[in-house]
Amino acid sequence: MAGFHFILQATNVHYASSNYNRTNGAMRNTSTQITVEGIPIEVTKKRVKHLRVVVYCSSGRVRISSPKWVGDQEIFRFAESKIHWIRKHLRSKKEVVKIPDQPIVTGATHNVWGTPYVLNIIEKDAPPCVVVNGSATMDLYIRPGSHQQKKEMVMREWYRAQIKKEIPPLIEKWEPIMGVSVDDWGVKKMKTRWGTCNVRAKRIWLSLDLAKRSPEFLEYIVVHEMTHILERLHSPRFYGLMDQFMPAWRGIDQKLGGRHWKKEGWLG
Ligand SMILES: [Zn+2]
Repeated sequence: MAGFHFILQATNVHYASSNYNRTNGAMRNTSTQITVEGIPIEVTKKRVKHLRVVVYCSSGRVRISSPKWVGDQEIFRFAESKIHWIRKHLRSKKEVVKIPDQPIVTGATHNVWGTPYVLNIIEKDAPPCVVVNGSATMDLYIRPGSHQQKKEMVMREWYRAQIKKEIPPLIEKWEPIMGVSVDDWGVKKMKTRWGTCNVRAKRIWLSLDLAKRSPEFLEYIVVHEMTHILERLHSPRFYGLMDQFMPAWRGIDQKLGGRHWKKEGWLG
């Protein structure tokens, strides 16, 4: 089957479709399930012109919609021909899952710059603080009787202090390389992104969660957001600039789960 074209959508849905030569055979309007290389695929025959496979990232469901006149065998062959693509997007679904916030309790594992530490909560009548030990543990000192909310706040502010130390040297490093000046920057808790950029104000925002990941990710997002000062859109020019400044960025992005991009409509 020649002439496939792939379309990547801006939502969390991936689909591929194929132009299909009309063949004989009127089919009932049915929904069935087939299994291709161990992957269950829901097949719906309806009034459509093309065969289309959709991978729903949130649920991991795979669905094919097919014109009524396409035979089962052809649908199966179509699914087989798309199986690498389907697998790739089912896999990317897993990678996209964000590390959930760990509970602030003794014994929970908390990552700092990509290294896991087992948390130890120590009650002490002194100003609260966080101490990272060399032995893969971290201590949260907190006043006796402190509420959970207070513990969470102390941890969050500690992470904020860690990431805030790292950002200015990165901006200073990249400004002359990129010929860009950043007027302001900030850190905040972000649900769906790793960073944002206010192009007009030349202000970049970084996700607080970057302090939990390997430092290469913070640097990559800083460069990405700084690139927006030069090019607002995710245009070919934008990616050309990224390739120039940080040739390895695609690999880093993949490790980060591509999350930042998906929200902004790019699935590469
Ligand atoms: Zn962007």
